[in-house]
Amino acid sequence: MRLVLIGAPAAGKGTQARKLVEYYKLAYISTGDMLREEVSRGTELGKEVKNIMASGGLVSDELIIAIVKERIKQDDCKNGFILDGFPRTTTQAEKLEEMVKVDKAIYINAPDNVMLERLTARETCPKCGTSYNKISLPPKIEGICDACGEGLTQRKDDTLEAGKARLATFHEQSEPLVEYYQKKGILFEVDGLKGVEEISKSIIAELGEQA
Ligand code: AMP
Repeated sequence: MRLVLIGAPAAGKGTQARKLVEYYKLAYISTGDMLREEVSRGTELGKEVKNIMASGGLVSDELIIAIVKERIKQDDCKNGFILDGFPRTTTQAEKLEEMVKVDKAIYINAPDNVMLERLTARETCPKCGTSYNKISLPPKIEGICDACGEGLTQRKDDTLEAGKARLATFHEQSEPLVEYYQKKGILFEVDGLKGVEEISKSIIAELGEQA
């Protein structure tokens, strides 16, 4: 199964992706996590994308397509994968289609004002990438990741200013993907304001039980 997740920042893509990965035993590919890793390692690529990411813009199609192309060739992707944060432009979607057949595009739809509230209250584990929310989804112990025990941090682009820019980028560049996948007949839309469990149940109901 090859899935892509579409949604505004903080819509819950990462949270749902992790659940689906576990349920269907798929490879998890988050282009955002991959880029953040490059930034934190201080690589040439990391230096190139650091400021773009911090400001809420998109890195170039060419660069991100090359990264994904290599990643999906790896062994763990043979039984399928979930792409979280890719494609983000129509060009990326077209290139992906040249590489593989996408089975379903899941669109987590949620309003901007709620996304901004969520985003600024979000805490993320820098080690395993799990997201929490100080208000709606707090960790069991304040500031500590339930999954791996690491101290939680706030992403540099989870500020009000960068968040607004990321939402604008989403509407301009990524929202057209909803229609793109709708036309292909593989879009499944879920209401991002529903609870985490309810959303994952509805996605699994759509995709079918474990193969
Ligand atoms: P995310 O963790 O998915 O919110 O991604 C964080 C940031 O990484 C984005 O705001 C972009 O700057 C960059 N990024 C991640 N995925 C892509 C992509 N598919 N195309 C362009 N930029 C991306």
